[in-house]
Amino acid sequence: MEKLVITAVMPTYGRKDVVFERGEGNYLYATDGRRYLDFTSGIAVNALGHCHPALVKALTEQGQKLWHTSNLFRIGNGEKLAKRLTEVSFADTMFFCNSGAEAIEGGIKLIRKYQFMNGQPKRYKIICFQAAFHGRLLNALAATGNEKYLEGFGPPAPGYKHAPLNNTNVVRDMVDDETAGILVEPIQGEGGIRATTTQFLKDLRAICDEFGLLLFYDEIHTGFGRTGKMWGYDWSGVKPDVAAIAKGMGGGFPIGAFMATEKAAVGMVPGTHGSTYGGNPLATGVANAVLDELLKPGFIDAVREKGEYLKGQLEGLVKKHPKVYVEQRGMGFLQGIQCTPAVPAGDMVNRLQSLGMLVPPAGENVVRIFPALIADKAAIDEGIDILSKAAQSFEAAKAAE
Ligand SMILES: *Cc1c(COP(=O)(O)O)cnc(C)c1O
Repeated sequence: MEKLVITAVMPTYGRKDVVFERGEGNYLYATDGRRYLDFTSGIAVNALGHCHPALVKALTEQGQKLWHTSNLFRIGNGEKLAKRLTEVSFADTMFFCNSGAEAIEGGIKLIRKYQFMNGQPKRYKIICFQAAFHGRLLNALAATGNEKYLEGFGPPAPGYKHAPLNNTNVVRDMVDDETAGILVEPIQGEGGIRATTTQFLKDLRAICDEFGLLLFYDEIHTGFGRTGKMWGYDWSGVKPDVAAIAKGMGGGFPIGAFMATEKAAVGMVPGTHGSTYGGNPLATGVANAVLDELLKPGFIDAVREKGEYLKGQLEGLVKKHPKVYVEQRGMGFLQGIQCTPAVPAGDMVNRLQSLGMLVPPAGENVVRIFPALIADKAAIDEGIDILSKAAQSFEAAKAAE
């Protein structure tokens, strides 16, 4: 028999050689007994840290009652979750799915259907932005537009053009009679923690209103308190017509949604969209428990305040280690620190891991800093201390050259 080289799990990721067996709060414990400060949070997913007692309780209680029934029937937990989320957002209605990319693709369908219903069936194109990330399904990938991710997968799905972020004139010039909407992340995550300006979002809103387009926010990274407000768009106050949410929503249980105003969702009538698992009793039960915690008075305000503290500490690191760190980016617990060209972000991520701290890299040589929203000052201080030690080790290596 021929010996296989391929791993049983398809090797599409460059994984770190570490296996975790347990998580608790801000920490992950590996099979070799090492403890890590987890400032990756499953890429902004584990909003309440690992094994938060309220989530464990919701998961196990719901798990003993009912998991899945299909969308052929009403789902109480889902109706409750949707009602609560409409109360704390711009949206009037939402569709539950299982991931971010699915939420993006559902939102795109909604936008096209809106145009169709409004007598504009030719309008299907979506204006997107350079360095965006919207997921890996074929349309989400075309919206992402990253050449490296698209290579080899055939012609990209048609209708996605990419403008530079925060450049209103280019966006305005891109609008043609086939344009249906504009898709933007209030703060680009994977792209390197790149924020839109309030003025830019206002301009996008105005362009949409002028030309009859829908404004679609990708809040997958920025939603659920990650930036220190419930939604990323709360910083600008500029409301979209459609938004995609996921990541922090289930605190680690897979769930996403696209949500919209009643006006935008005009075409989403029975039979227009579906998902076998989407919004099942177990997923929406857990997501309700996440929301219970996030909506406790002061919880998200505390994220904002702790985020201010983290920001100050990161700025301090930039001052102290200018040969390693260039600048702090972001707010709340969606922050990053850009490394100098001499220190590739991937090397920094590895160094931090060897020092006991986990963080994800991003574009523009940025290392993302994503504490769980429950992280306190002591956890932040621990992280800053490790970031400082990592910088010292790069400085020492440079001095020894
Ligand atoms: C993670 C992410 C996605 C994709 O979500 P998946 O659940 O991986 O499909 C889309 N957009 C943004 C902004 C993200 O951060």
